[in-house]
Amino acid sequence: MTLVSRWLCGWLAVVACAAALAGEPASPAVAAAERSFLDLMDAGELAADDRLAIAAMRRSIAAFDDGNPDDGAPGRSCRDAKAPDASFDALREALVDCFVEHGNQLRFEGTTIDRGTALQLLHVVGVETKEVERWLVLVLEAWRRPVARVVASYPTGGLFSLNELVHEIGHAVHVSAIHTRPAYMDWPDTLFTEAFADVPSWSVHEPAWQRRHLGVEAPEAESLRALFGNVVLDVAWSLFELRLLRDPQADPNAVWTDITSRYLRIVPHPEVPWWAMRVQLVSDPGYMVNYGLGAILTAEMRARTVEALGPFDAGNPQWFEWLGGRLLRHGSELDTRSLMSGLLGRQVAPQALLQQIERCRPPR
Ligand SMILES: [Zn+2]
Repeated sequence: MTLVSRWLCGWLAVVACAAALAGEPASPAVAAAERSFLDLMDAGELAADDRLAIAAMRRSIAAFDDGNPDDGAPGRSCRDAKAPDASFDALREALVDCFVEHGNQLRFEGTTIDRGTALQLLHVVGVETKEVERWLVLVLEAWRRPVARVVASYPTGGLFSLNELVHEIGHAVHVSAIHTRPAYMDWPDTLFTEAFADVPSWSVHEPAWQRRHLGVEAPEAESLRALFGNVVLDVAWSLFELRLLRDPQADPNAVWTDITSRYLRIVPHPEVPWWAMRVQLVSDPGYMVNYGLGAILTAEMRARTVEALGPFDAGNPQWFEWLGGRLLRHGSELDTRSLMSGLLGRQVAPQALLQQIERCRPPR
């Protein structure tokens, strides 16, 4: 069956059902729709029996046009079908007329419908319509938005593990907040997705979060150094990859040694390729910038949220609704640039991250 006739079948069923369920005889509009449908069927390649059935349907519609919708019901030929001495041709004709007779007087939930409607309702699955309806309701009732869960095992504890766990929960929060057209029911780009997951996870290193969830707190500067030590390493790897992408002939050990000794004061070991500890450099070329640049985005999102809602490290009832409405609900409809400029009212800048790194200095 062609797509057109499939569509027409569905549409025809809706029109015919509406008339039948209202307890009314088929209207001229329904007859016209049926005729169009039959024209379409005729245009295709049909078996001989199907052509006979369609001819019977045409006679039925013609009878309706003549003001005698029950024409054929007491069909002489149909009665002949029971004649034991009927010829093959007579039996075939009788069968067609029985088809017309019974097909136009089908009982359906207290009313009478015609064959076309009934076929649309029943021929596909061969079960009672009420049963089909019950199945459809069951399916709809079973459909629920999935609940995002995080499953992980942590053989050792510590703030690093908690930070990672809350980061994954950030992804779960994100995907749970997407509320958009089906075409966009997906993550936005990787940069934004990873950066947002760190918005809650950076709180793990804040004294307020630790007080609430652990009952104890580490000194602020030390705790933040534990967090931003890893952030800064990611920034270093991002810079390393950018420089190697710009100059693929460069010696990676030399590039890495230059970055780590100059900015992180790590003793140079150009003979050791320890830059390769970061597996994404090999498995996902170009991925590291999601972490390095992502940290800048995370700091921007956190700062803007505090500005709008006040502190949220130990919880804030407005947090989900506020961030969800501005950043998360769009799914993949908006890219990072649109989301961030919508949140900030300007382009992203590194100042918010630099302010956080300032907090890592021990108090004097
Ligand atoms: Zn992640």
